[in-house]
Amino acid sequence: MIQSVAFIGLGAMGYRMAAHLPKYFDSVYVWNRNFDKAKQHAAEYGTQAVELNQAVQADVIFSCLPTSADVEALVSTLSIKSGSIWVDCTSGVPESAQKLASALKAQNIDYLDAPVSGQTIGAENATLTVMAGGNAEAFEKALPAMQAVGKLIKHVGASGAGFAVKAVNNMLMAVNLCAAAEGALTLKAHGVNLTEALDCINASSGKSNATETILPQRVINRTFPLTFALPLLAKDTGIAVDLVRQAKLSAPIIGLTQSLIQAASDTAAPNSDFSTAVKMYESWSKITIE
Ligand code: NDP
Repeated sequence: MIQSVAFIGLGAMGYRMAAHLPKYFDSVYVWNRNFDKAKQHAAEYGTQAVELNQAVQADVIFSCLPTSADVEALVSTLSIKSGSIWVDCTSGVPESAQKLASALKAQNIDYLDAPVSGQTIGAENATLTVMAGGNAEAFEKALPAMQAVGKLIKHVGASGAGFAVKAVNNMLMAVNLCAAAEGALTLKAHGVNLTEALDCINASSGKSNATETILPQRVINRTFPLTFALPLLAKDTGIAVDLVRQAKLSAPIIGLTQSLIQAASDTAAPNSDFSTAVKMYESWSKITIE
């Protein structure tokens, strides 16, 4: 039985995910580096803003930080409750998950790499997909906590498998985004109305999340709302490329897409949404996707 739950990292995702926990658990601790956010969360949702060392005394401890390096740095400073389960919702590095799982196991703590998909709207509606790697028994024990934030919760394999699935998922999204941008620019260059074109494509075999939501809801209307930072996508595509290299595979589309997303991230304005990756294509062709 899970009595207490903690959430560490109240960013774009974590703030919204942690909001659901008080509906299911009596004690919900929250901690954030900028502690004012934790206090605001407590006032808004009835969670308890506590010091980090108190947060890690919970039965289930969620984290959602930018990178595995951030999680490793934090974990190394802490005295975590024995018998607890750390559910890391960061989109992280598989090798780091294996390292953390084995280091924490020595302290009788289970570590699950449990990244999420579904963007901030999915976090808000508790409809995220959670793809978890790690000990199967720990997964079953932590399941009620993960069900509070997600809809499809899957155990996908041993430590690192969750992060691997997430990296490949985001790589596929990036591939589709780059391809959709190229297709849209080609149509615009030939004088085709993009809204009409996307209506057809989205009822046809070329559709993807990029054509169905990213282009119409972020690019064509020129809003580019910041919900998922472009450097975070570049981090994820980088993890996918590392997985390809480690397996000594030949995957040219993955390699090329990583180069494109990294270049777009390197040249983007600070705090750019991932959808602004298309602006790199626009600057090359002097055509805007609108
Ligand atoms: P944000 O940048 O919005 O939030 C990051 C959070 O981590 C903040 O709470 C920040 O604290 C905290 N943080 C950053 N660095 C450190 C550190 N060194 N030590 C402690 N806390 C730190 O990121 P997101 O919420 O967008 O993303 C979090 C993770 O979820 C990433 O791995 C991302 O790839 C993944 N993700 C994001 C999605 C999205 O749509 N945004 C969708 C699915 C996954 P502070 O407030 O003090 O800066």
